[in-house]
Amino acid sequence: MMAKILRCTKCRQYTIKTICPNCKTSTASPEPAKYDPKDKYGKYRRQARTDGNLRKV
Ligand SMILES: [Zn+2]
Repeated sequence: MMAKILRCTKCRQYTIKTICPNCKTSTASPEPAKYDPKDKYGKYRRQARTDGNLRKV
């Protein structure tokens, strides 16, 4: 099964972990029920990659 995409509530890093690997803050589902179910994982996975790269310090 596909992993559930979560997002850190503090640094906004996307992850599949319940705890952010960056700052150890709890993660949450990003904007539930706002996406198209058919595209939800691909969309968030693309954003995660871009977002992670841009925000990497
Ligand atoms: Zn974080």
